[in-house]
Amino acid sequence: MAAKLEYIWLDGYKPTQSLRSKTKIEADFSGKLEDCPNWSFDGSSTEQAPGGSSDCILKPVFICPDPQRKEGYLVMCEVLNSAGEPHESNGRALIQDDDNDFWFGFEQEYFLWDPETNKPLGFPAGGYPGPQGPYYCSVGANNAFGRDIVEEHLDVCLDAGLNVEGINAEVAAGQWEFQIFAKGAKEAGDQIWVARYLLERIGETYGVSINWHCKPLGTLDWNGSGMHANFSNTVLRTAASEETYKKILEAFRPVVKEHIEVYGADNELRLTGKHETASINDYSYGVSDRGASIRIPLYTVQKGWSGYLEDRRPNSAADPYKVAARIIKTVKSAVL
Ligand code: ADP
Ligand code: MN
Ligand code: MN
Ligand code: MN
Repeated sequence: MAAKLEYIWLDGYKPTQSLRSKTKIEADFSGKLEDCPNWSFDGSSTEQAPGGSSDCILKPVFICPDPQRKEGYLVMCEVLNSAGEPHESNGRALIQDDDNDFWFGFEQEYFLWDPETNKPLGFPAGGYPGPQGPYYCSVGANNAFGRDIVEEHLDVCLDAGLNVEGINAEVAAGQWEFQIFAKGAKEAGDQIWVARYLLERIGETYGVSINWHCKPLGTLDWNGSGMHANFSNTVLRTAASEETYKKILEAFRPVVKEHIEVYGADNELRLTGKHETASINDYSYGVSDRGASIRIPLYTVQKGWSGYLEDRRPNSAADPYKVAARIIKTVKSAVL
């Protein structure tokens, strides 16, 4: 039977790239990545090429079933330029993790957004709900908004085989989180992007959009959205040494600017030192410290300094490929 392959890629918009996709019909499709041919698209419509030489190439890199479509597959792609080299918008190609030694768990926060009121779900038209406090991990129609969308998304992600580890209602009204973990930085990024794609598409059927901006309610007293990056490699998982952890954590200190550059647009609005964040200009780390740039989870200390770290600075709109690529570069730069 003819299969529907949804080729998904990231456009060239700056500072924040968006998802694009189109459908390819393949007869007698095996379901395997190696049987997904390269394809092309009009890069002049996505800010990825000039009109006179518009073709960009889609290189399939990750495939999973599309649970919402008959004979459907979701095919995450890298973008190559017409010469077949990684396009400058291609963050995945920056990841130096060929042996999949790096494990990443991303905590993706986002707002469910009502396009009519231009406010999160749960915000009355022309006003505000009660202050933050009751919404985090809440239940009940006064405090939890949009659960039908969130539940449908969770089921579809699991049916697609994505490694979602959990979901929760977040601190602001209409704000939610899902967590995805993968052994291998590229795969973690692929899964986050496919999960974002599915959430956007499910939102269409509810007339609800997904707001990935890190501070959609501006300076009001509402939390922003992050995408905490939990990471480890063999060294971090087996260090059994506080000193090794300190050396790796210190390797992040001189490259704050390089990290913030890829941690998502407008992050200065979110990393204020309030609302469980560190100031964008500082660099700090600490055990269990949710006001630090990098938190050392208690788990890591209890295991005798073997485990993982949590960089709390990446925001909800950051590209997980670029975040992972930069973290890997810095961890590898540590002189142990
Ligand atoms: P919190 O909200 O307390 O920061 P979460 O439970 O939401 O924590 O997220 C913790 C994340 O850490 C999960 O995505 C999990 O997969 C990830 N994680 C756990 N162990 C490791 C590890 N060894 N390497 C990388 N990530 C890990
Ligand atoms: Mn979390
Ligand atoms: Mn959270
Ligand atoms: Mn976290």
